[in-house]
Amino acid sequence: MSEYRRIESALIHGGIYGDKYTKAVNVPIYQTSTYEQSGIGEEPEWEYSRTGNPTRAALEALIAELEGGKYGYAFGSGMAAITAVLSLFRTGDRILISSNVYGGTFRVLDKVFSHFGITYSIEDTTDLDALEKSITDDVKAILVESPANPLLTVTDLAAVSRIAANHGILSIVDNTFMTPYLQRPLELGADIVIHSATKYLGGHSDVVAGLVVVKEKELADRIAFIQNSTGGVLGPFDSFLLIKGIKTLGVRLDRHVENAEKAAAFLSEHKAVKKVYYPGLPDAQGYEINKKQAKNGGAMISFELYENYDIKKFFKSLRLVALAESLGGVESLVCHPASMTHASIPYDIRQQIGITDGLIRLSTGIENIDDILEDLAQAIAESEE
Ligand SMILES: *Cc1c(COP(=O)(O)O)cnc(C)c1O
Repeated sequence: MSEYRRIESALIHGGIYGDKYTKAVNVPIYQTSTYEQSGIGEEPEWEYSRTGNPTRAALEALIAELEGGKYGYAFGSGMAAITAVLSLFRTGDRILISSNVYGGTFRVLDKVFSHFGITYSIEDTTDLDALEKSITDDVKAILVESPANPLLTVTDLAAVSRIAANHGILSIVDNTFMTPYLQRPLELGADIVIHSATKYLGGHSDVVAGLVVVKEKELADRIAFIQNSTGGVLGPFDSFLLIKGIKTLGVRLDRHVENAEKAAAFLSEHKAVKKVYYPGLPDAQGYEINKKQAKNGGAMISFELYENYDIKKFFKSLRLVALAESLGGVESLVCHPASMTHASIPYDIRQQIGITDGLIRLSTGIENIDDILEDLAQAIAESEE
């Protein structure tokens, strides 16, 4: 970020502001696949939209600035972004992942990259000693989320980045749940930040997109090469939607978090609730670490109801809060990780890492908080057996 503006302003003015040709305050949607070149052998600024597109470039410059990195890359989904990053590795390499990463990240490693001889192991990244001991010669990267999906487990990002650096391997952080408004992993020492921009960055549940940010030229060149070679790029219109979404990220997240803090307090005191997972609660795992590395606890909450509450009935009884995959949009959503987002993780592993069948994940929206709480209260009451 430049010295004369803070993140709230950078969200609106960062990267490439407006259009240099017309002075339009918004970057236009350059809906084109190719560009006329002035002559053979003359290096064109733009040549083909897989390689580069001005609308996408504006988004890429914006996310790079927001994350405190130097180089940004936009992809057609969060998974395309993760796939591009995993394409840095080769046969024989192993990636350590934290024990509750996004289900799709686990799946692409388990079912796709395994075909190419790239392996993974699941580690408890909150146990730094154990993590360090698990770094054998074949380990080339540590991939973490903090707070992680869906148990909101907090990992010390500075410590993990330091461990990775000491071993000469890459630290990769999926920053989807926090966004650069709340947490900037590159500033904590991480090498690569990944986003599913589908979530808070887009913020309106109207676009599927992924982003990658790095700070070093050598790594940037490799990612750019993979982006252009494998081609999972974000289109100009979706790039425009993301730029538009990011402008209001600060005000949206302020409200998301305010609502989440109230919802977490409400759930903590409710007699039907067995456990609440929210990094903003003082008794939460990793509360102090999260406070050190992030602005606050974010807006994702998971909770478990006691066994005498019928979870299916709970979901059916909700009237305002919708049952849906995804998160981070203005509307409140709930999901059932065991059968939805984390269904691709085998049952035994799910039990081991605490993703029980009674777990409910809430993406707290920006509606009136009283409406959200009333809806949760009535659905819990309906589900009592
Ligand atoms: C949704 C999500 C992804 C995958 O992103 P898509 O945009 O759905 O492909 C990756 N990581 C996290 C933490 C997510 O929540």
